[in-house]
Amino acid sequence: MTDNKIGIIFHEDFALKHIPPYPKPTFIAFEHPNRVKVMIEALNRDLIFDNKRILKIVPPTIEDDIIGLAHSKFHIDMIRKISKGGGGIIDDEVFVTQDTFELAKKAVSGAITAVEQVIKKEIGQSIALIRPPGHHAYRDKASGLCIFNNIALSVLYLREKLNFSGKIAIIDIDNHFGDGLAHYFYEDPSVLYISIHEYDFSQMDLGFIDELGAGDGLGTNINIPVPEGLSSNEFLELISFIEPFLREFAPSILIVATGFDTYFADPIGNGQLTSETFYHFSRKLMQIAKELCEERIAFILEGGYSIIGLQYCLLALIKGLLNESYSAPIFEPKRVEYSNHQNLDKIKKSIVKIIKPYWNCY
Ligand SMILES: [Zn+2]
Repeated sequence: MTDNKIGIIFHEDFALKHIPPYPKPTFIAFEHPNRVKVMIEALNRDLIFDNKRILKIVPPTIEDDIIGLAHSKFHIDMIRKISKGGGGIIDDEVFVTQDTFELAKKAVSGAITAVEQVIKKEIGQSIALIRPPGHHAYRDKASGLCIFNNIALSVLYLREKLNFSGKIAIIDIDNHFGDGLAHYFYEDPSVLYISIHEYDFSQMDLGFIDELGAGDGLGTNINIPVPEGLSSNEFLELISFIEPFLREFAPSILIVATGFDTYFADPIGNGQLTSETFYHFSRKLMQIAKELCEERIAFILEGGYSIIGLQYCLLALIKGLLNESYSAPIFEPKRVEYSNHQNLDKIKKSIVKIIKPYWNCY
């Protein structure tokens, strides 16, 4: 039996390469190799790799043409060229170094491995600790710290290289709307994309509730924009809110765009989640996956920039999957119960109202 195993996928280069060019406090400096370094150190410290259910998996090298499943030749060539030339800044939110092209390819391979091995039941669940992140990357451009769209590529790889035709649900819990990821599957009825993300209601931005998908995919893009300050209880309530959609959709696998930037001490996000929230989240998701898809879940790292918080959020998530107990570190604040509850209720009601024609569950 291998399918009760949890594969942790990483390459040591994720903890070493693609170093942002500026020191703090520049925004892009937070997407640093130390993010993965501290997570691996925490797993070693906690003896996670001694657990017989945990497997360490190194993603294999992939050919450049795999990247072409989701990106234009122009985009791939541009990243390759800038890397080869020593790196540079593409815009305010994307940096490229001399090793970015190769590392971004490894990140894609990590996401593909995470999804492929779960689909093939070589492991039960997977956690890909990869960087650079991917969910803001578009077919034609890098964006928001993201070079290639790791999750989109993992889905397109399943479809086109493995001929997998089952339904796929992507749950994006990163603090930010995965605009790049959403655009790939906006018209695809076989991929359900659900995103919970911080939203500034005072100005217009992508990620609002009325982006429902289009064509055959109308109704399979569900955006849950939330005001800043999302609390643990509210987050977990939103997971309960999306459960009926998941049940009705009946996917063969859950892919989680796993951002930890909703953590209370994250330097970029403004949520109030504690590490314990991710423990309850992964336990809950396991229950749902048990019922729907033979416990197949692939967690793919997106954002999360608190060097201290990342360690505990990841440990909590793994403990939840292992069905072991978890105690939060003493420096974390007491769990915040509710902060925006009335507003969230309004948002949920509005979503139900707008999406009702496409679903039976609400
Ligand atoms: Zn993010």
